Amino acid sequence: MIPYGRQSISQEDIDAVIAVLKSDFLTQGPCTPAFEQAIAEYCQVRHVLAVNSATSALHIACLALGVGPGDCVWTTPITFVASANCALYCGATVDFVDIDPQSYNISVEKLREKLVFSRANDSLPKVVIPVHLSGNPCDMASIHELAKEFGFKVIEDASHAIGGKYQNEPIGNCRFSDITVFSFHPVKIITTAEGGAACTNDADLANKMALLRSHGITRDEAQMTGPSDGPWYYQQIALGFNYRMTELQSALGLSQMSRLDSFVIQRHEIAQVYDHLLGDLPLQRPWRDPRNYSGMHLYVVRLQRKFLKKTHLEIFKELREYGVGVNLHYIPIVMQPYYKNLGFSIDAFPESQKYYSEAISLPMFSGLSETDQSKVCEALKQILS
Ligand SMILES: *Cc1c(COP(=O)(O)O)cnc(C)c1O
Repeated sequence: MIPYGRQSISQEDIDAVIAVLKSDFLTQGPCTPAFEQAIAEYCQVRHVLAVNSATSALHIACLALGVGPGDCVWTTPITFVASANCALYCGATVDFVDIDPQSYNISVEKLREKLVFSRANDSLPKVVIPVHLSGNPCDMASIHELAKEFGFKVIEDASHAIGGKYQNEPIGNCRFSDITVFSFHPVKIITTAEGGAACTNDADLANKMALLRSHGITRDEAQMTGPSDGPWYYQQIALGFNYRMTELQSALGLSQMSRLDSFVIQRHEIAQVYDHLLGDLPLQRPWRDPRNYSGMHLYVVRLQRKFLKKTHLEIFKELREYGVGVNLHYIPIVMQPYYKNLGFSIDAFPESQKYYSEAISLPMFSGLSETDQSKVCEALKQILS
């Protein structure tokens, strides 16, 4: 089976991890700050906190922004469940805004409508989490304008988008957001096995997230409630977690960073080949905003069902039978049993519902061979004809 995504591990990556195993520190050593520094330089952002997953990064990002009981966080239904769960972890509620039919990202038009409506009801969100689906940047400038007008904070879920650019600037620079989150799961653009990071230009938010990452404990006397008892001393001043990244993971991530640009370039080359080979099929190929540069995490095609005799499910199953490991990103969160029990229904999100009935993610990863890519396209031609 050709997978839809997979990691690319070089000999340098392996050597970097082995060097850590032979070193003094398996955690809390020099590799994590070095990895954070590499991301900060790449993304042109002041503070980066590496953590054990993007889910953890989203959680501490929400907490640092003060999300708690009585607050509401908004995101889109077409994302991984973690983009919404983070609000629930904080005791807040979550709500959703339907997607834009062209980009599949949060619809800024619908966001504005919902904000106007919520202002009248005194139920504005504390935080909005736009997700750069497939790596395609959201319309961040417009979202930033709305944030100022309606007084909410913004966390970019850029789990798909490291290496991408918005208006010629790196995703992660937080020009139009408070915090940006990356994921380093093996299917993502670079990997640390499990891992994530939170970026911000705000020293106070960075400090809060640093505390929350490590039990709420500080060794900095300036942050303590009184003088230190001695060299052994630390204080717990908040209720934090253990969300730290290990040195093994940071060494892998740092080594992967040196290939980030080439990974994204390869992904774009693969996308161009798909664009070309799939041109005549009854498929809607993924749109890319020519003003931006996608991280190209996913290549999602949508079936033009009016030209097809087979169902979405049939086509999906037949592709898997051909050995093409297609996938679907994502099942609308509001359709998950857990969220249905909270009272959500897909009926309120017609674009997400339509997307879910048509979308198929084709294999997309750096290292996908031309032969395998041709096999994918050949299978699609056979099945759709
Ligand atoms: C992968 C992903 C996450 C979660 O990332 P982890 O590092 O696995 O916790 C969150 N949001 C989106 C959009 C993702 O794709």
